[in-house]
Amino acid sequence: MAELGKDINRAKQLLDHGELVAIPTETVYGLAANALDATAAARIFAAKNRPSFDPLIVHVATAMRVHELVTDFPDQAQALAASFWPGPLTLVLPKKNHIPDLVTAGLPTVGVRCPSHELTLELLHLLDYPLAAPSANPFGYVSPTRPEHVQEQLGSQVAYILDGGPCRVGVESTIVGFADGPVIYRLGGVAVEEIENVVGRVRVMTHSSSNPVAPGQLASHYAPARQIVLGNIAELLTQHPNQKVALLRYHKRLPDTPVPQIVLSPSGSLEEAAQNLFAALRQFDKMDVTLVLAELVPDTGIGRAINDRLRRAATSR
Ligand code: AMP
Ligand code: MG
Repeated sequence: MAELGKDINRAKQLLDHGELVAIPTETVYGLAANALDATAAARIFAAKNRPSFDPLIVHVATAMRVHELVTDFPDQAQALAASFWPGPLTLVLPKKNHIPDLVTAGLPTVGVRCPSHELTLELLHLLDYPLAAPSANPFGYVSPTRPEHVQEQLGSQVAYILDGGPCRVGVESTIVGFADGPVIYRLGGVAVEEIENVVGRVRVMTHSSSNPVAPGQLASHYAPARQIVLGNIAELLTQHPNQKVALLRYHKRLPDTPVPQIVLSPSGSLEEAAQNLFAALRQFDKMDVTLVLAELVPDTGIGRAINDRLRRAATSR
């Protein structure tokens, strides 16, 4: 079991010694280490069983600190940082040499982000290095949105879990790179529409196969243990009559059925649905069912990121 608490000085002390600390962010919990220390970063890959081709996101206290990490911080990237930081946006920029290759998986770029969570921001301000932090889950599984999710899966691998409560956004950051203009590599907490309001039209390139620029692009990712089938739930129920199923609904319970159900947003808001999504997927894995029948949510705003995660969760490994 990892130690759990709100003590940022304790977190700093451990990080200063190259150890792993789980940190709360508004998106999901991160598994953090000193981003400039290759040995510390290697512990992240080992704890997550993460393949070395999957780069880590580097977390900074302010946009000013980005200049220490990149060789170019283009105007469009600065405009996005000014609009959405602290917040769920990662910018992919050309890296400086002192960032270990392990952190960027050998890429010439680094993903940087300023997270919006009071405790983690305070911690980042205390440190004299940035924090490399991917999601604090075993590679390929659903990201953790509550401290107990980290404790359950990686409790024996991290020294300390900084307890920041449940994550406010609940899906990972939107990843934006720049190649002939802005490109979205991963849909996330900042909606495509919001990005376009700042920099104009962006390309969305979230589907890539064997050698992804951003491994969140792998077709099967964010995958729970239970098999998930997407579609119209009433129809799916008639197609799977003899199975132990559970339902994942967006807004309302399906009436007149004894089947267990999780409703993502009783109030019908996509933001609430995003907050609850990963905890729901984890809950199904604890239920005595063989199949989860799920429906997509409205494909707008953060709904696009929710649907992206549902599709990847439904793609069997
Ligand atoms: P996680 O925080 O677990 O969602 O993982 C970080 C993700 O950020 C990676 O899987 C990539 O999708 C993305 N990422 C990090 N650095 C880069 C980079 N230099 N280029 C492209 N994508 C990146
Ligand atoms: Mg991840």
